[in-house]
Amino acid sequence: MSYRDEILAEGQGDLSVPYRRRYRLCQMLTVVGILFLLPFGIYNITGEDSVLGASLISCAAVGFVNLIVLKLSGDLDRAATVLSCILIALVITLIITGGLSNTGLLWVYPIIAIGILINRFKRGVVLCIAFTLIISLLLFTPFDSFLTTKYSFTESSRFMVSVAALGIICLVGLYFEDRAYKVITQLHQEDLRQIAYYDNLTGLPNRWSFKTNLDKIVSWAARENKAIGLLYIDLDNFKQINDQHGHEFGDEVLRQFSEKLWESIRSHERLVKSQRETLARLAGDEFVVVLPDIDSRTDATAVANRVLQMFKGGFNIGGVHHNLCASIGVAVYPGDTKEPTDLLRHADIAMYYAKRSGRNCYKLFNTEIANDQLEQQTIEKGLQAALNNNEFSLVYMPIYDCEDENIVSIEVLLRCLNPSLKGYGPDTYIPIAETTGIIKEIDIWVIQNALDALVYLQKEHAYKGKIAINISGVELSDTRFPEKVSALLNRYAVSPELVELEVTETAFVAGDEACLAILDKLSKLGVSIALDDFGTGYTAFSQLIHYPADCLKIDRSFVAEIFSDNRAQSQMTEIINNLGKLYQLRVIAEGVETEEQLDYLRKIGCDWAQGFYFSRPLVWSDLLKLSLSA
Ligand code: C2E
Ligand code: CA
Ligand code: CA
Repeated sequence: MSYRDEILAEGQGDLSVPYRRRYRLCQMLTVVGILFLLPFGIYNITGEDSVLGASLISCAAVGFVNLIVLKLSGDLDRAATVLSCILIALVITLIITGGLSNTGLLWVYPIIAIGILINRFKRGVVLCIAFTLIISLLLFTPFDSFLTTKYSFTESSRFMVSVAALGIICLVGLYFEDRAYKVITQLHQEDLRQIAYYDNLTGLPNRWSFKTNLDKIVSWAARENKAIGLLYIDLDNFKQINDQHGHEFGDEVLRQFSEKLWESIRSHERLVKSQRETLARLAGDEFVVVLPDIDSRTDATAVANRVLQMFKGGFNIGGVHHNLCASIGVAVYPGDTKEPTDLLRHADIAMYYAKRSGRNCYKLFNTEIANDQLEQQTIEKGLQAALNNNEFSLVYMPIYDCEDENIVSIEVLLRCLNPSLKGYGPDTYIPIAETTGIIKEIDIWVIQNALDALVYLQKEHAYKGKIAINISGVELSDTRFPEKVSALLNRYAVSPELVELEVTETAFVAGDEACLAILDKLSKLGVSIALDDFGTGYTAFSQLIHYPADCLKIDRSFVAEIFSDNRAQSQMTEIINNLGKLYQLRVIAEGVETEEQLDYLRKIGCDWAQGFYFSRPLVWSDLLKLSLSA
C-alpha cells in the first residue's frame, strides 16, 4: 500500500467513527429494549393490561428482527428509522395505557432521548416534532378518548413542557456533534487534497499538480506567444548523503534545498511567477522550475547557473559542509517542443546528459541530444520486437577456480539478434530496457533459458557447477520477483544453491528496507547473491553487513589497474578482496586478461576469476566443447 493509500484508508477510518458510534448505539439500545420489553410485556399480557403487554411484546419482536436485518445489511439509516417507529409505537402505547401502575409518562422520557440520539440531526428534529405532535394530540385534543388513564390538565401541561425541553436538549447535543464531524470531514478532505497535490516533505507541488500547472502555463504561452523555460534538477550525490547520514538527514537536505532553490530563483522576478506554480518536487531528489516568460534560452541558462552557484563551496546543513551538487537539464517552449509532456521529457533527458558529462553542470536540450533520443527510441522498438520474435540469445562465460582452474560457474550474458540492435551490447540496451520496464520480461526470459541450459549441462555433461544470472536492479523493487524466481526453480527442478543471481552494486539503496526484504526473500529461496561490479557504486562498506550477499565480484576496471603506477588504483583489487574475506564472502575477479593478473589474484587469495584470459563469452555450441565435468 502506498503512503497515499494508507493516509486515505486512515482518513476513511476516522470518518467512519460516527457511523460506528450510531451502529453500536442502535444495537445496544435494541438489545436493552428487548430485555426490558419482554418481561414487562409477558407480565402485562398475563396480568392486568393485555393491550400494553401485546404491544410491548410486538415492539420487542420487531426490534429483534430489525437487529438481525441491520447485522446482515449494515443499513444503519433504515435500522434507525425502524427503531424510531418502534419507539413512537411505545410512546403511544405508554400514554394510552398509562403503563404499569400509571408510570407510562416517566418511561416516555428515556424513549424520546434514545429516539433522537440514534438519528442524525435532521431526522432527530423530525422525530422530536413527531413525538411532540403525537403527545399533544393524545393529551389535548378529542383523541384523549382513546386514553385508558386520565391525566389532569396540569399534569399533561407539565409533561408536555418537559418533553419539549428534553427534545431541545437532545437536539442541541446532536447538532454540535454533527457539526464537529462535519469539521473533521472537511479537515480530512483538506489534508487529502494537500497530500494529493503537494509533496508533504517540502510543501512544493508534486508531480501530479505540476503537470496540471505546466499544461496551463503552456496553453497560456501559446495564446500569448511567449516562451517558457523548464529546468529539470537532480541532486548528484544525494544517494551518498542518504547512505552516510540516514534518511532523516536526507529529508532535511531536501527541505533545505527546496528553500534555497526558491531563494536563488526568486530574484528573477520577471521570470518567476509565484512559488506554487513555478517549483515542484517530482520525486526523490528531482525538482523542476518553470520560467513562464523568457526572452531567450540565455534567460533559462542564467537561472540554471544561479542554481548551480548555490552549491559552490559545499552545501551547508546544520553548520556542516556537505559535498552536494546538482545536474540540470534545460528545455525551452516552443523552441524544443510544443507539447508539455515532451518539454518535461526533453529537460529530463538533457539532465541525464549533464550527469553523463561530469555532473554539477547544466545542459540545454539540443539536436545532438534529440538524435540520441531517436537512437534510444530505435533501441526501444528493437527490444520489443526482439521479445515478440524471440530474437534474444544467451552466451556463456565460464568462471574458474583460481587454484585448480576448473570451471566452477558459468555466467550467462544476453545478446540481441534483432537487426536494428546490431552492434549494440547489453551495456547499451539493458539501461534502456530498464527505463521502459521491458527488462522484467527480459530477466524472466534469461532466467528460464539459463535454468534450461543448466539442466541440460547437468544431464548431458555431468556439470556440477553454478549458473550465474544477471538480474536488473529494477527487480529489487518488485515484491513479486522472489515468487517468480521460486516458481521457475520449481518448474525446472533445479537446486537453488546452484543458481547465483548477480545484482549490480549500484542497484542497492542503503537502508532501503523494501529492497533488503526482497533480497532476503531471494536469499531464503536458497539461491546465492553476488554483488556485481563491486566498488563502482557508493555502498558504504559498513552497509555490506546488512546485505544477504554471498559473493563480491570485483569490477573489471580494478583488475585492469592491478599493475598500474597509481598505487591507490592498483591496490583496489586487494582491498576489495580483503573486504570480501572480512565479511566471509566469496570473491570473483572479473576481466582477467593476462596470466600475471591471475597469478596476482591467486597470491592475494581471490577465490574465482573470469575474463578473456580464460575464455570469451561463448555461444552454446562452443561452451559444450569445454570440459565441464570436473
Ligand atoms: P557484467 O555482469 O559485469 O558482465 C561482464 C561483462 O564484461 C560482459 O559484457 C563481458 O563480456 C565483459 N567481460 C568479461 N570478461 C572480460 C574481459 O576480460 N575483458 C573485457 N574487456 N570484458 C570482459 P557484456 O556481455 O557486454 O555485458 C555487459 C553488462 O550487461 C553486464 O555486465 C551486465 O551488467 C549486463 N547484462 C548482460 N547480460 C545480462 C542479462 O542477461 N540480464 C541483465 N539484467 N543484465 C545483463
Ligand atoms: Ca555480471
Ligand atoms: Ca560485472
